Amino acid sequence: MSKLLGTHAIVIGAGIGGLATAKLLSSHFAKVTVLERDAFADRAEPRVGTPHCRQAHVLLKAGLVELLSFYPELERELELAGAVRARTAVDILIETPGIDPWPQRDFGFYTLCMTRPLLEFVVRSLTAKQANLDLQPQCRVTKLQLSGGQRVTGLTYEQAGAAREITADLIVDASSRGNMTLETLDACGIPRPDEMDIGVDIVYGTGLFRLSENASRSWRGVIHRPAPASGRGGFVFPCENGSWQVTLNGMHNDGPPEDLPGFIAFAKTFRTATIYDALKDATPLGAIHRFAFPSSRRRRFEALTAFPQGLLPIGDVICRFNPAFGQGMTVAAQEVGVLRRLLDERVSTAAPLEGLAGAFFKAIQSVLAAPWSLAESDFIYDKTRGARPADFAQRMQFSGALMRLAVEDAGVHRLLTEVNHLIAPPTVLRDPAIADKVTARMAAST
Ligand SMILES: Cc1cc2nc3c(=O)[nH]c(=O)nc-3n(C[C@H](O)[C@H](O)[C@H](O)COP(=O)(O)OP(=O)(O)OC[C@H]3O[C@@H](n4cnc5c(N)ncnc54)[C@H](O)[C@@H]3O)c2cc1C
Repeated sequence: MSKLLGTHAIVIGAGIGGLATAKLLSSHFAKVTVLERDAFADRAEPRVGTPHCRQAHVLLKAGLVELLSFYPELERELELAGAVRARTAVDILIETPGIDPWPQRDFGFYTLCMTRPLLEFVVRSLTAKQANLDLQPQCRVTKLQLSGGQRVTGLTYEQAGAAREITADLIVDASSRGNMTLETLDACGIPRPDEMDIGVDIVYGTGLFRLSENASRSWRGVIHRPAPASGRGGFVFPCENGSWQVTLNGMHNDGPPEDLPGFIAFAKTFRTATIYDALKDATPLGAIHRFAFPSSRRRRFEALTAFPQGLLPIGDVICRFNPAFGQGMTVAAQEVGVLRRLLDERVSTAAPLEGLAGAFFKAIQSVLAAPWSLAESDFIYDKTRGARPADFAQRMQFSGALMRLAVEDAGVHRLLTEVNHLIAPPTVLRDPAIADKVTARMAAST
């Protein structure tokens, strides 16, 4: 263990962001405590505190790579627990309006498909192996404590009906909502960060199914992207125990019903019959669960001129994304990667934790830029709420022409897939060799 940054760090929330942060901090603090309001089951099970965990969760390639840097044994453990390996652009069929479907091409990387509870259970089990890390279930944090003005030095939490207090050198808010961080800013007299919202009101419905055998099926997963006029889309992914997760979703409150006939009928309204055909004679393995997600939201913490010492928000507290792009867990893991770099840089300085949050907010902007830009594509729908970027029409024109090029050009298709999996920056698609061809297509189509 390198020089310690402090004696105690606390992480609020044991979601993917909180767990990876705790694992990182266990190398830098004598002790790390994770406080989670839910109970922990001894197997992969949905939790009350993460109601969205019943919806299909895709772990993008960049998320897997980042998590592997914290948990080298993760991939093996996930596969042992039942995660299914699918070649990303071959086994997973992608249907996009005007393309339907993309050519199936092998770019040499794969996606591990599993339920979110399985991923979280395995990550939690690996995190719990750290000897100096204490995972405390059924502890609901109620308030952060300030001392000496703008410095957070502890918190209050409820456990078994009793209020308890605990102190720490650093408190990380990975609670997703971030109310405690915002209330602490209020208490310090610091204005809350501005928020950018992209109002999508997307409603998800997901069920677990057993799919009937079909030798002619050319896929092991489907992504059906909505057309602007309909806003309806869906996913089919294999997961543990030979089951499949089928998620249907609709923009602007046009979600699928929870009854099976209504759910199947919703799939029948899609542009293609791929998901409907798989679903119509599938065997349901439980209820269909709905979840409503109002908006992608980015809090501009980086623009604040002051922030309490000893406090660091992370993950969805800072930025959450329309789940249809599958980015949230990956971005949370990438933020933890940024934090690791910052802590490594600061470890030998005189006061490594001073100003940490400010440096972190600035450093993660490069992580947030690409996924946020993808989330902005939701302005393609007339009903989307928020401030549409000034160059939106131009961007969409470029992206349409780029996709048409990628259908024909496997090299461009590979780059686009890598960008969508957040392992390559979008700038690779602006390379003159590609941009010139895209521009020529744009000119030809006007
Ligand atoms: C419908 C839906 C589908 C999604 N699909 C995908 C996907 O396909 N791919 C992807 O990468 N991401 C997806 N996401 C996003 C993803 O779930 C999150 O972005 C990601 O898990 C990071 O979240 P987090 O760790 O910040 O918070 P969370 O995972 O939400 O965890 C927060 C934790 O904090 C705990 N907590 C909250 N308040 C307190 C308190 N006061 N005291 C103690 N504990 C507390 C909660 O119980 C919870 O365990 C989806 C999200 C939704 C809503």
